[in-house]
Amino acid sequence: MVTRCEICGRVIPKARLDILPTTKRCVECAKKNGTDIQGKRTEVGMDIETYKDLLGATRS
Ligand SMILES: [Zn+2]
Repeated sequence: MVTRCEICGRVIPKARLDILPTTKRCVECAKKNGTDIQGKRTEVGMDIETYKDLLGATRS
């Protein structure tokens, strides 16, 4: 059984599901649209503070 991204429909890699078992979004869509996991400290390879900085940088 595979989990597909709720936005783009691509299969979510098992490595991501190992870290975020309940995610419904692939890495790319989580970056573009925000993670669906609220309050989670880490995304794959990126902690939430770095992620917020990145969003702030791209908006300004
Ligand atoms: Zn996606």
